[in-house]
Amino acid sequence: MAVGPASLMKDAVAVFDKLDVQHPNAWTELHFTNPYELLAATILSAQCTDARVNLVTPALFKKYPTPKALAKADPAALETLIQPTGFFRMKTKSLIGMANAVVDEHAGEIPSDMDALVALPGVGRKTANVVRGHAFNLPGLPVDRHVLRVATRIGLISAKAGEDAVRAETRLMTLMPPDRWTRASDTLTLHGRRICKPKPLCERCAVRASCAYYRRQ
Ligand code: SF4
Repeated sequence: MAVGPASLMKDAVAVFDKLDVQHPNAWTELHFTNPYELLAATILSAQCTDARVNLVTPALFKKYPTPKALAKADPAALETLIQPTGFFRMKTKSLIGMANAVVDEHAGEIPSDMDALVALPGVGRKTANVVRGHAFNLPGLPVDRHVLRVATRIGLISAKAGEDAVRAETRLMTLMPPDRWTRASDTLTLHGRRICKPKPLCERCAVRASCAYYRRQ
């Protein structure tokens, strides 16, 4: 697939249709029951696997079931609880800072607005998009390293955009209707984990006929 205007959206949607078939259950692998839990779990998932985060969050949400409870957490106790996820001092700061901002500025409710989400301590665009797309059912296109690698290889985004998550997000958003953004991100992420790994398994790939990288091999 070439990056250019014209029938690009149609081409991209056809690629995502195929990825949907290859990964029918693509969705965040983080466990959550409400926006607060997903936001906290996503903050913990930085530099950590979702599986490891899921081992830690049941005890975390039991002890701190709301932003109000988390805002009052003792940092040392919280550090101990989340230690297995790595970078636990920085994550403790982010979690308590996020909870305090949610309590002080949003009456204890996680906001769904992108600007309000990214204004919270420890929350970047990727995290905000994860929460919008999965907890609020709003358009959100999280871009992680898998999305960047796979989208660049296929040719959905240029190599230059593939080096910049915000640029890649903006580009990908133009290629499909908003109600497909989150699912597209989930399928690209899962494809990157399972098939289009750093060393790609092209013979098992549903979109190789449309893939610029595959055609160059
Ligand atoms: S054909 Fe290969 S490089 Fe292209 S998307 Fe599939 S696995 Fe990745």
